[in-house]
Amino acid sequence: MHVGAAAVVGASAAAYGLSAGWWQIGQAYVIVSLVALGGIMPDIDADKSHSMRLVFTVLAVVAAFAALALTRADLSHSVAGCLALGLYVGIRDVLGFLFRLFTRHRASWHSLLAVVVVSFSTITVSYRCFGQPAVLAWCHGLAMASGMLVHLLLDECCSVDLEGARLKRSFGTAFKLFDYRRPIATALMAVAALLMLPGIPQWPF
Ligand SMILES: [Zn+2]
Repeated sequence: MHVGAAAVVGASAAAYGLSAGWWQIGQAYVIVSLVALGGIMPDIDADKSHSMRLVFTVLAVVAAFAALALTRADLSHSVAGCLALGLYVGIRDVLGFLFRLFTRHRASWHSLLAVVVVSFSTITVSYRCFGQPAVLAWCHGLAMASGMLVHLLLDECCSVDLEGARLKRSFGTAFKLFDYRRPIATALMAVAALLMLPGIPQWPF
């Protein structure tokens, strides 16, 4: 449901941008994919979930391609290939495993702070690793952010019992500024966001 809703939002935004002449059709696919990915991103802390495997697989593929793009000029094909493969396996399996070990579902990743951190990372990767212009890098970050926001809002809506207007116990766990019950994770996220700030291109709009 999350991915579907996010994909609909993404497709509308991409189509709008296409008709407004902001980007070409190839970029429109990137935007839709980023919004859809954002739509499952907050559930990457759900142990054994399909979302989690999918997110880490996508991240691993992106990292492998980024490594290939960055080292194209300096490394031989075989070395660059090994590096990309190592990154792919490392992120998908090792990082994924560690992540499962240390996170709890609907905790730190269901927060606006996480939206900021993930969007900043998206902008940084798009701008620095893939050499996209500042405007597009920001569009990519905003696409990711909107997908995540759709997810958080859906989670929050689903925790409200509409008929009886009673609030379930999970209310307030999805859409929050940050995870005040886990100060260390919150602090790490805040530090990560601050560290990325200097590398992000200026707001272009
Ligand atoms: Zn969720």
